[in-house]
Amino acid sequence: MNLFETIHTSEHEQVVFCHNKEAGLKGIIAIHNTTLGPALGGLRMWPYATEQEALDDVLRLSRGMTFKAAVAGLNLGGGKSVLIGDPRKDKSEALFRSFGRFIDSLNGRYITAEDVGIDVNDMEYVFQETDNCVGVHQVHGGSGDPSPFTAYGTLQGIRASLQQKFGNEDVGDYSFAVQGVGHVGFELVKLLRNEGAKVFVCDISDDSLKACEDLGCEVVPVDEIYDVDADVFSPSALGAIVSEQTIPRFKFKIVCGSANNQLATDECGDELERRGILYAPDYAVNAGGLMNVSIEFEGYNRERAKRMMRTIYYNVSKIFQIADRDGISTWKAADRMAEERISTIGKLKLPFMGRSHRFPGRERGNH
Ligand code: NAD
Repeated sequence: MNLFETIHTSEHEQVVFCHNKEAGLKGIIAIHNTTLGPALGGLRMWPYATEQEALDDVLRLSRGMTFKAAVAGLNLGGGKSVLIGDPRKDKSEALFRSFGRFIDSLNGRYITAEDVGIDVNDMEYVFQETDNCVGVHQVHGGSGDPSPFTAYGTLQGIRASLQQKFGNEDVGDYSFAVQGVGHVGFELVKLLRNEGAKVFVCDISDDSLKACEDLGCEVVPVDEIYDVDADVFSPSALGAIVSEQTIPRFKFKIVCGSANNQLATDECGDELERRGILYAPDYAVNAGGLMNVSIEFEGYNRERAKRMMRTIYYNVSKIFQIADRDGISTWKAADRMAEERISTIGKLKLPFMGRSHRFPGRERGNH
């Protein structure tokens, strides 16, 4: 593999390889784009089979964060970091503190948070070494679990989608198929039921299904969720579930949910469009978690967080407008909205305002 060619093609600003043998640290920090602000994105710990796999993942995920922050209207860039290791066996204080020092060495160009395999206790160690982390525990003034906010943000995306598709955003008038009722999915189900919507749910785990039934939801077998006759499909579990295999089964009018990377391929997004199924791009809909941690920069406040989540309605509506304006699929319109914002804000340069310069060792005077 040609490393520099890869980074050049993916347009990354900086990739940092972090190594400390004693601490068992093998990590990579990828900073994709800092035009809008410091690169923010979570730390993932995963037993990657190869170093190449870890690099591919961090490059892909950090690029995604640039787009997510840009569409969310945040003054943040895109970054991500990965640790190669098994989160069940390889965690230690030394690992996270040595990684924290690498983050600190970047002087705020990259800010980390929790992602797959990392919990708030791991972040405590990172936090001992650097201020440049968010999603820290509430006892430190952090924002805590983002899931309820992500669910609330998803509801705003659903409203915008209903308005676009039916000209009526009254959630209680529609039916929903929610795939996965974990942290975000279950919170979403509660919000939907509060509005009086008909809700079908499925999950591979029984943990929340009984509670969903108690809320009045109908539980369907995991494999049958794609066949449910509901207005909205809300993926809240896995990625790549909107695929060549599942789309022909859809009777849904809208796909709008919290799961990351819902489209198996970009062509699947185009296929939804051809079939008249409105797709609300996932990274615009599920930006609530990112918005929530971003508030830690100014001092965390739940009311502000909730207010910020409501902007998801406008962001998703704007994507639909761009899709209509340019005659393109909504997934493409989301990317275009991000690129347009980065380009416009990136050009907001003031002319040089002047300041006095000091040239140590020089003196003005006669020759
Ligand atoms: P979670 O692990 O708490 O919940 C996922 C649920 O999906 C679990 O209950 C799991 O049993 C279930 N599930 C797994 N495979 C399934 C299958 N094949 N069919 C049905 N159910 C299945 O995760 P979460 O935090 O609720 O996140 C859900 C999705 O939202 C993920 O894609 C995540 O990346 C995304 N997301 C979450 C947040 C957040 O704030 N937590 C923010 C942005 C995006």
